[in-house]
Amino acid sequence: MRPITSSMEEFRFKCNETQDGLYVNTVKENVPLPPWCVCGGMGYFHLNREPGQPFFGDVFYCLCMEDEMAKRKGERLRQKSGLRGKLLELTFSNFDVRHAGREHIKDLTSKKEDCVGFAKEPGKRWLTIFGPFGCGKTHLAAAIANHCLINGSPVHFATVPDLLDHIRSGYDDGSYEEIINDLSTVGLLVLDDFGVNKSTDWVEEKLFQVVNARDVDNLPMVFTSNLSPGMIGGRIGSRMTEGLGVEGSIVLHLDVGDQRPNAKRRVV
Ligand SMILES: [Zn+2]
Repeated sequence: MRPITSSMEEFRFKCNETQDGLYVNTVKENVPLPPWCVCGGMGYFHLNREPGQPFFGDVFYCLCMEDEMAKRKGERLRQKSGLRGKLLELTFSNFDVRHAGREHIKDLTSKKEDCVGFAKEPGKRWLTIFGPFGCGKTHLAAAIANHCLINGSPVHFATVPDLLDHIRSGYDDGSYEEIINDLSTVGLLVLDDFGVNKSTDWVEEKLFQVVNARDVDNLPMVFTSNLSPGMIGGRIGSRMTEGLGVEGSIVLHLDVGDQRPNAKRRVV
């Protein structure tokens, strides 16, 4: 029997890499994994097989590694999510509908519930949230993204200007194709502040490339925009506002004022 290596790289090589870059026991269902720790503290083990027998030389995570693997998976998903700092704190439970004013509470609560429903099961749907500065649309979009993260689902959150900078940077370091591919295939893509960028042919083309790829593959998206639906032009705008071909897609209009604390003192 081949000796167990202490190299984590070897261990990772032997386990299969999934689409989102995680390493798992993909044949777990087919091998007699013991329901207790058998690794002697190494975190992984291999089965006592002779050359030629199934799983000879294969390395498996030990049961004692499950918490550690869940932690690593969560951290990796968070790093790739684009969520950082205060965005990570925006959840449905701290979305306070009372700031909208008494006359808007019922309406805003209902729209928040629409977002909760979407977050639980995005399916193939698109969700578009329109509303003025400070109405809470970024909070709801980030809450959807954080909900996915907590549930271990790959998500990417980006403001459109940041996203375009990110794509541009890919030209410099050669990661352009990888970036476009990641955005086109991640489980859920959330684009905040759609339409604030100065639109050029290049911008339009890059955004359309990503959005169209997701549309073709039936992958869900969330958009927010402070423009009115009629102001978003181009091929993406028409899909956002009218071409929501997938049943159950949602367009929300948050017709409330600035909900941010001290909003009245701000110039927005
Ligand atoms: Zn163990």
